[in-house]
Amino acid sequence: MENSMTPQINRDRCDGCGLCVMVCWLDGLVIINGVVAIVEGVECDWCTQCEAVCINEAITCPYEVILG
Ligand code: SF4
Ligand code: SF4
Repeated sequence: MENSMTPQINRDRCDGCGLCVMVCWLDGLVIINGVVAIVEGVECDWCTQCEAVCINEAITCPYEVILG
């Protein structure tokens, strides 16, 4: 399944702490010049772990799908 969705980043909020980079199990995030960026081509699975660890709410997965 193709998945081009990636989390949204608010560059003004991000302080480059790197927490989200550490929790992304797909290595889909990287810090560039002190701000997080999405690795090009990563097949993010929308696990929302990056959003969960960010205390600055700088990275969000706004279309969370809940299967029930
Ligand atoms: S956890 Fe938040 S503040 Fe830290 S690098 Fe990631 S997006 Fe930026
Ligand atoms: S939602 Fe999950 S897979 Fe996607 S960038 Fe965040 S931590 Fe990585």
